Amino acid sequence: MVGRFVYRLVIYVTLFAFALQGCRGQNFVADEELMPYVHEYMSFLKDNKIGMQFQTKFVVSFNPFLDAFRFAGYAEGMDKDKEVNVYVSKSVWNRSNEGQKRWLIFHELSHDIFNLRHGTCELMKPQMDIKDNMETFEIAKKELAEVLKNK
Ligand SMILES: [Zn+2]
Repeated sequence: MVGRFVYRLVIYVTLFAFALQGCRGQNFVADEELMPYVHEYMSFLKDNKIGMQFQTKFVVSFNPFLDAFRFAGYAEGMDKDKEVNVYVSKSVWNRSNEGQKRWLIFHELSHDIFNLRHGTCELMKPQMDIKDNMETFEIAKKELAEVLKNK
């Protein structure tokens, strides 16, 4: 009788833990300014029915160290399949147009989440062009969707 009670209790506690996990979702952290662009990437994946692995860590943040190395962004979590850790240079961000900002976030998150390498498509070219804008981004985004769908 007691054994049966303990058995049930274990099941309830397990179910509760799973429910809690579901509510909490991924440990999603992004700088406030970067957050809308990260959400745009998530919507892009959803709209194109591109699934991704559950990430135990999901961080997208500004990192002042990048300025010293002249990097626009860095995907520290690349090849770590359960971790997203993207750094963005604040100074590059501040002088980027809306198309370039999207370009940067989409580029780094595609490195980090899907391990996409440079040269895979236009969006994964090693460096953004000074002339990149919303128009060139939208074209590159469509190509990226095809690459990820066929991955
Ligand atoms: Zn890159």
